Amino acid sequence: MGQTLSCVQQHEDHGVLFPALASGELEVVEAMVEEDPTVLEHTIGCDRLSPLHVAAANGRIEVLSMLLDRSFNVDVLNRHKQTPLMLAVMHGKTGCVEKLIHAGANILMFDSIRRRTCLHYAAYYGHIDCLKAILSAAHSTPVADSWGFARFVNIRDGNGATPLHLAARHRRSECLHALLDNGALVCASTGGYGYPGSTPLHMAARGGSLDCVRMLLAWGADRLQLDSSGKIPFSVALKHKHKACAALLDPSSAAPLVWPSPLKFISELNQEAKALLEKALLEANREREKTILKETGMPPSPLHSESEDDNIASEASDMELCCICFDQACTIEVRPCGHQMCAHCTLALCCHKKPDPATAGLSGPVCPFCRGTILQLLVAKINKISDTEVESGPMKPRRSRKSNFSEGSSSFKSLSAMGSFGRIAGRNSGKITDEKQWEVS
Ligand SMILES: [Zn+2]
Ligand SMILES: [Zn+2]
Repeated sequence: MGQTLSCVQQHEDHGVLFPALASGELEVVEAMVEEDPTVLEHTIGCDRLSPLHVAAANGRIEVLSMLLDRSFNVDVLNRHKQTPLMLAVMHGKTGCVEKLIHAGANILMFDSIRRRTCLHYAAYYGHIDCLKAILSAAHSTPVADSWGFARFVNIRDGNGATPLHLAARHRRSECLHALLDNGALVCASTGGYGYPGSTPLHMAARGGSLDCVRMLLAWGADRLQLDSSGKIPFSVALKHKHKACAALLDPSSAAPLVWPSPLKFISELNQEAKALLEKALLEANREREKTILKETGMPPSPLHSESEDDNIASEASDMELCCICFDQACTIEVRPCGHQMCAHCTLALCCHKKPDPATAGLSGPVCPFCRGTILQLLVAKINKISDTEVESGPMKPRRSRKSNFSEGSSSFKSLSAMGSFGRIAGRNSGKITDEKQWEVS
């Protein structure tokens, strides 16, 4: 959309208005409008951009506000039926996006090029803040009532592509994640009902983003789904020489862990707890990935360097160790019983697929300590165990793993006789020197 700016410069016949709009010269624009209000009816360039389009595309919030105060039509269309909101989104001008939405801009408008909405544009260009602003608006605007939020998130363009398809195709992993988090269908097909088409996984295989492939797989994307030419995502990745993606998409390689459906039965999974569990899921998949990539002779992706693993481990910070694995920090608290464990163990618990005759049916997972139903998962509060805790900030990395478990390995049964499991893990005495060692940042 670079033509937006060049068009402004090309058309001198509009005098100084459009250049002033583009560069945000509020006084100049105001003076011109005072002198002749009809000047705002002018459009510019091949795309017939209105003053509002130009201000929005250039992120000129003050000028934009002034125009809106003069009751300029917030959804004015250019030649391609694009709204100022779409242009602001394309250029990643989040402030203008918010302003326009606040002024009542319709987020459910389709352009005439590919019948795309502002949400498609946000995913295509990867402007995560704009995407979030639109999604939050979709919760509250009339769109939510008329279309429904879920339908809006999965809205299709003229080619049948949802915003998730576009994010996957253009390697926008942040947007991809936000869309999945908001209910985007991981298995959506561009083909429409009953017809074969491409899934977001096909698109990610084409785009070659390992992050996108990894995330879609963790959300349960099907490696065996065929597109309209009968290809699975693996073949698409191979064709475009994305070897690492192909290795993960190869149906013969180990299947990744998938965000477990039992978690969906836990009605109250707050955002923080969810983020921790997601992180644990991705970490677990990383380990599998390493093996897969090693087998195929691929160097491990730079994202998975050892130093990062160290960071993750050292985030075990001030929390007590998990009493199931004695390896990770206790970060998740089960409600109502209050037992604590680490995100990895929580995840493993929920991923456990063997049908248990005792809890047959669609019941959610139970607490491994007391067998009580898990109604809620929260992020465990950091407990202060000793005075020395006070010396350090709550999030300072600290080595306090494995070596500090001094009570011997009791059986599960004897552990569960104790009231608080979190307190079993003590601190080793070399803590303060360790701390210094890890105080890097
Ligand atoms: Zn654990
Ligand atoms: Zn419990």
